Amino acid sequence: MKLRKNGISEEEIFNNLQEFRKNDFNWRSGKLFSFVYHPGDEVERIIKKAYTEFLTENGLDPTVFPSLRKMESEVVSYCANFLNGDENVVGNMTTGGTESIILAIKTARDYARKNKPEITEPEVILPYTVHSAFFKACQYLDVKPVVSALTSDYRADVKDIQSKINKNTILITASAPSYAYGVIDPIEEIGKLALEHNILMHVDACVGGMMVPFLKKNGYNVRDFDFSVPGVTSISVDLHKYGYAAKGASVVLYKNNEIRKSQYFVCTEWTGYTVVNATILSSKSGGPIAAAYAVMNYFGEQGYIDLAKETMETTQKFIEGIKSIKELQILGNPETTLVAFSSPKVNIYSIADEMNMRGWNIQVQFSSDYAPANIHLTVVKAHKNLVDEFISDLKDSVAKAKKFSLSNLKDRTTILSAMEMSKISSTEAFTKLAKLIGLDIENQKLPERMAILNELMDKLPDELVKPLLLEFVSGLYCVKTT
Ligand SMILES: *Cc1c(COP(=O)(O)O)cnc(C)c1O
Repeated sequence: MKLRKNGISEEEIFNNLQEFRKNDFNWRSGKLFSFVYHPGDEVERIIKKAYTEFLTENGLDPTVFPSLRKMESEVVSYCANFLNGDENVVGNMTTGGTESIILAIKTARDYARKNKPEITEPEVILPYTVHSAFFKACQYLDVKPVVSALTSDYRADVKDIQSKINKNTILITASAPSYAYGVIDPIEEIGKLALEHNILMHVDACVGGMMVPFLKKNGYNVRDFDFSVPGVTSISVDLHKYGYAAKGASVVLYKNNEIRKSQYFVCTEWTGYTVVNATILSSKSGGPIAAAYAVMNYFGEQGYIDLAKETMETTQKFIEGIKSIKELQILGNPETTLVAFSSPKVNIYSIADEMNMRGWNIQVQFSSDYAPANIHLTVVKAHKNLVDEFISDLKDSVAKAKKFSLSNLKDRTTILSAMEMSKISSTEAFTKLAKLIGLDIENQKLPERMAILNELMDKLPDELVKPLLLEFVSGLYCVKTT
């Protein structure tokens, strides 16, 4: 495609945008989980207004637009406050949980370089349920991820963490809660270990940081996870999840500025302006900062307390409904507003397919060393009036899915050996596989029923699945120069 010679009218542009949107999932239906945390049209209007007010301002240099610095400082301070930080806590806004986590690991790495220069091959301990962002950070930063075990309640196994601490360990991590199963790791015990061994500790409260404190204020008995716990040295909390900010808003906090100094990048070597970056981005829109400031002040503490209560009550209803279906079982004991459930007898991917055909957008999670394949729900306010419909659809879906058979999978071993034995390129392997499972590569479409594809991805070894995924997703973004 070639950039058009002459521009087109505003009307035409916006018609195009609406046209493009036609195939998007209609999140306003509320039948979506995890992607959109929409607490209502009024909030949407307010964050849009604040976002566009500061769309053009640049967070590149905190001295040119003090407005952005002021809003960021306030937002970070609110978080430090409700996460029980003292006056030494410092932090920054980032563009998301992933950036906050990458920065926490980079900070730990560089802090160790400074304070424990004898470490040449740094390791971080990651309980089995940590978010993928930690693996991404380790890969980007060349830090070794050391995965530790879970106990039967899907929490980090403290003894195993202890056994994995060695002279190269620079950071221990934990989740509050973990995304997949919605349970909070034993942060206090892990904090003790970190203190004993003089190692930094990061708590990933990306999804829970703006939920758990307000659940506590409602009297829910949720364990401590924040700076009130000795040993915790950094926390990530996403504002664009249960903070209801516009996407592009997260906060990373450190126990003190001495630790945070290792997060900064200062450059005087190049030929342009002086660069002092707190976070990964250099130029960045003021929009997400202003929107986060706006929504947090719109709700205030009481607003978040009320939202937490409403969301938790809705979650409880989902749990009761799921428990009423005898073929299903909830994984562990969800303590927050994230729930996962599986089915010992009925194919869970097939249940997900049936739900999707009934207008829902269901996220599946593959089986692991600790849990069977399952369906994940991140509950939000928008689901409040949809629980009955969801449960009724779920009952129907389970009944339908019982008829599903995995007999097509008998070809699996054939494909596997074909791919491994002949040294065919992954593109060829992919084409073969795609054909077998009904993937429409030409039109970049997933099959309506994903069960077989999901089963395959779940069962095939990672080394095989990864290149296939890469092949498919990289094919989704096509460049046509003519
Ligand atoms: C969402 C999430 C992240 C990553 O956040 P992004 O904003 O998607 O980059 C990290 N950890 C947990 C527990 C999360 O739920």
